[in-house]
Amino acid sequence: MLSWGFFPVCLLLACTEPPQGQAELVLGTICRINLYEQGSPEIYQTLFSRLREIELTMSVTKADTTVDRINKNAGIRPVPVPPDLMEVLEQALKYAALSEGAFDPTIGPLVQLWAIGSEHPRIPDAFEIEETLSLVNWRDLVIDRKAATAFLRRSGMALDLGAIAKGYAADEMAEILQNAGIPGAVIDLGGNIFAYGTKQGEPWRIGIQNPLSTRGAYLGILEVQHKSIVTSGVYERYAEIEGKRYHHILSTQNGYPVSHGLLSVTIIADRSLDADALSTAAFALGYEKGRALVESLDQVEAIFIFEDMRIRCTPAALDWFTLRDSQFSLP
Ligand code: ADP
Ligand code: MG
Repeated sequence: MLSWGFFPVCLLLACTEPPQGQAELVLGTICRINLYEQGSPEIYQTLFSRLREIELTMSVTKADTTVDRINKNAGIRPVPVPPDLMEVLEQALKYAALSEGAFDPTIGPLVQLWAIGSEHPRIPDAFEIEETLSLVNWRDLVIDRKAATAFLRRSGMALDLGAIAKGYAADEMAEILQNAGIPGAVIDLGGNIFAYGTKQGEPWRIGIQNPLSTRGAYLGILEVQHKSIVTSGVYERYAEIEGKRYHHILSTQNGYPVSHGLLSVTIIADRSLDADALSTAAFALGYEKGRALVESLDQVEAIFIFEDMRIRCTPAALDWFTLRDSQFSLP
């Protein structure tokens, strides 16, 4: 298995915190968890083995995961599904319905066609896009809770849970911490963050990435307690082809990377699965529809960052957010 093994998170974070954290390459990204004073080898072991277990069920890049088996049996037969994956599939279908398919867990064939984030990305032609789009439809994902199976109705269909599985995984980390009585931790699964509990009774301060800069530069700070913060944007994963940038969130309408004048959408929510699915959904929907979706839900806040450097926040997000970069403007 591809893994960087365990090493102190401080090596990666240019050490401003005590070195109790752990990081590992899992779920296709660097996952860092920092329990500060409460960290022990045993609890990190429990956390990271659960992450690897989730990867073995839900990854599309690893062979013989349950998701891989569902994909291989598309159009053939239903596949037995463990309870955790069933939960994620149910939630994915919920967000597909809420976003009218802008978020779609059956986006797999389109993701494979573009291959953004792989070594060989390419711009497909119009015919390929049309043909592939016809294989993307969440309504053809059939889950049977009683029989504990999942089935893709048509051959060639494929699940891709890249927009929701890390959120689920972060919630699983939070649950392990809760059961262990840990009061505070920062869970960072490749930018999918859960600011768990408090920082010794104080809010956590979480940097919001400047979507125009390389990873690590913040444009502002969010002060929150026990919230997940997840961003979807043009910078997370992209390919440069013939001098143009193509990012990795694809439109189920036209088959191209979505472009609505947004650089990123950050969602702040109690559950990381919700924040993860909604950040992708809102980014795919664009500002007006994305904001309407967020506002239709309880306890979900959002920060929208536009290509023209304007920022729009829902009211609670505005209270928690401090802008630090004068290139950007808040109303
Ligand atoms: P990240 O994975 O960088 O945290 P997201 O949560 O927004 O970002 O997920 C993007 C990933 O989700 C893509 O890499 C792809 O695997 C998948 N995806 C792309 N477009 C969509 C879409 N419209 N609906 C659901 N999943 C998508
Ligand atoms: Mg997401």
